[in-house]
Amino acid sequence: MKMSGGKPLDGKIALVTGSSRGIGRAIAVELARAGAFIFINYVRGEEAARKTLKIMEDRGDKGSLLSFNVSDFDAVQDAIRGITEEKGRIDILINNAGITLDGIFVRTKPEEWDNVIDINLKGVFNCCRAATRYMMKQRWGRIVNMTSVVALSGNAGQVCYSASKAGIVGLTKSLARELGSRNICINAVAPGFIETDMTVSIGEKSREKVIDQIPLGRTGTPDDVAGVVAFLVSGKADYITGQVIHVNGGLYM
Ligand code: NAP
Repeated sequence: MKMSGGKPLDGKIALVTGSSRGIGRAIAVELARAGAFIFINYVRGEEAARKTLKIMEDRGDKGSLLSFNVSDFDAVQDAIRGITEEKGRIDILINNAGITLDGIFVRTKPEEWDNVIDINLKGVFNCCRAATRYMMKQRWGRIVNMTSVVALSGNAGQVCYSASKAGIVGLTKSLARELGSRNICINAVAPGFIETDMTVSIGEKSREKVIDQIPLGRTGTPDDVAGVVAFLVSGKADYITGQVIHVNGGLYM
């Protein structure tokens, strides 16, 4: 059989927000392996971001670091303009950066609410707003937004977080409708319980309780999510837009 030798994302330029660690790192490494050049975004974790880059470079894949705070509109516009000036385009945007806020609703402070919405939801707006300008001109773009199972199921103790993630679902569907005619596909991925820094502080008892509710009987790994994201930005998903893809071992159906 004759092999073409090309990788599925050869020549593509991608930005993965929050790819210094966790799910974002796994996505960055996976897309780089598929041939894309990756801008590795982070806000504080420079050393961790360098590790993401090293994992890629050790495999012969390519990327560079790009620090900015996704909640800062001007910083995001500048950073994404910089990508297009350096590389001539931006093809793939993965809005993965996010923070969690766990706590009882009646004790939640307004500034905590603002912070979660600013990073998790406005951050997605900021990055989409900057990148779609260029994607529209290119008449090609792929965006994946990281939501969460709790956006759909709800979760006691995560009112702010789940509201921010539910906002991402509405943004994804409306933007997919608005930009479909420009060949820009926008989907959301909703992970369940994935083992990262975000979930590390959850006690053993609570973890066991969650696992009891997962038909596949285990928590997820960042690679479980990354594979789905790589599929969504590949040519195999050209007819998928406006969808929420669940990656949760059956925790929520
Ligand atoms: P994580 O391990 O805590 O990593 C979060 C990443 O986001 C880090 O790279 C961090 O960068 C970056 N980040 C945070 N605030 C930022 C900001 N303002 N600007 C730019 N980057 C920022 O989280 P994770 O578990 O991998 O989660 C990744 C995404 O999946 C999040 O959106 C999360 O809500 C979602 N999710 C996670 C789970 C789960 O079970 N883990 C489940 C459902 C959804 P620094 O290193 O610089 O801080």
